[in-house]
Amino acid sequence: MHFADLDLDPKLLNAIEKMGFDKPTSIQSLAIPAAMKGRDILASSPTGTGKTAAFLLGAMQYLIDFPRRNPGFARVLIMTPTRELAYQVYEQANTLAAQTHLKIGVVTGGINYGSHKEIFEKNNDILIATPGRLMDYLNSENFHAEDVEVLILDEADRMLDMGFRKEMLRICDEAKNRKQCFLFSATLEGDSVELFAERILNDPALLEATPSRREKGKIHQWVHLSDNREHKVEQLEAILKSEDVEKAIVFVKTRERLEQLVGELFAKDIKTTWLRGEMPQDKRLAALKSFDTGRTKVLIATDVAARGIDVADISHVINFDMPRTADIYVHRIGRTGRAGKKGTAISFIEAHDVEILAKVERYTEQKLKRRTIKGLEPKHKEAKLPAKKKKDPEKMKAKKKAKKKAKKK
Ligand code: ADP
Ligand code: MG
Repeated sequence: MHFADLDLDPKLLNAIEKMGFDKPTSIQSLAIPAAMKGRDILASSPTGTGKTAAFLLGAMQYLIDFPRRNPGFARVLIMTPTRELAYQVYEQANTLAAQTHLKIGVVTGGINYGSHKEIFEKNNDILIATPGRLMDYLNSENFHAEDVEVLILDEADRMLDMGFRKEMLRICDEAKNRKQCFLFSATLEGDSVELFAERILNDPALLEATPSRREKGKIHQWVHLSDNREHKVEQLEAILKSEDVEKAIVFVKTRERLEQLVGELFAKDIKTTWLRGEMPQDKRLAALKSFDTGRTKVLIATDVAARGIDVADISHVINFDMPRTADIYVHRIGRTGRAGKKGTAISFIEAHDVEILAKVERYTEQKLKRRTIKGLEPKHKEAKLPAKKKKDPEKMKAKKKAKKKAKKK
């Protein structure tokens, strides 16, 4: 399929060509026609498969087909989980709309309230917002969602994970005159997204581009067994100093561990930039820019801080600390190996990580190779998986009794 087969306005087709997009990705070729038919959409497709343009093009074609008759608030509202993602969507929207009359605004946290005022006064057609700040504007009545005709929830799975359920329901409630609602997600694993979708979507087109379980095979994945944290730092140093690392994201568990690691790598002459939660917006953007332009080749981040960032050409994703769930693992590694390029994902496994490693292997349906670095071989063998605890029937009985008793009281 070609973009020209999609019945899009020539102004949009021109912009697509300028962006160098050759053919629609599979989610784009499914979602754009469904959107143009006026349907609600529930779409899942792995990270990096072009979901942004899929919903933007659908929404923009709608705005072109049905031009604004009266001045008013935004007619398309896009909610995204994080600031970075909001700005990325904003940038892509501006590029796609370059030849149209459409006006686009963005509101997020981390920016002075005053500077947002004009965004609402400017008659924007499309508004992109993060949940927290959007709620503030609804509460202060600076923004009303009654004019919203197309409501889009991007990375709905992440937003649910991040605890924005209430905010999402509120916006669905406020945008009560909407004609269409699109819900986009990297996965439909677990039933929370689908249950949520059932509640807010009206007879949606269910679009699954590729099974999100089997992340693209072109990501080369392996693990290193590590004795302890110190050992991990040495292994990381060796990997980062190797030649084929062009751009690496290193994931750590907590903000404290992030700060510690930045210091340790600095002492080893490895320049890094970092993203962590609750960072002023200008600092975040500066960190991302330094990484994106290649000035710094190592970005250290926590999951929350790195959510949704789209930096091209990431050669390595490194799990300095393993994530909590297999689902997050897939999200992390989805940042490399994009647009047909080769990607590498490396994880450090300490004894206490063997359970999550087993989960990742089950979830991705493959065994990850164990590798060693010369001179930095682990002293310990791979830890065994703890045996599953068998339930003791006597103990269970006693527990039940105790529960009953507690209830009676
Ligand atoms: P997702 O939201 O699915 O994670 P994005 O929308 O962020 O993915 O897109 C990932 C990358 O792919 C972006 O850099 C985007 O510009 C690019 N892209 C999107 N659609 C196409 C296409 N049809 N052809 C080539 N590249 C594309
Ligand atoms: Mg996306």
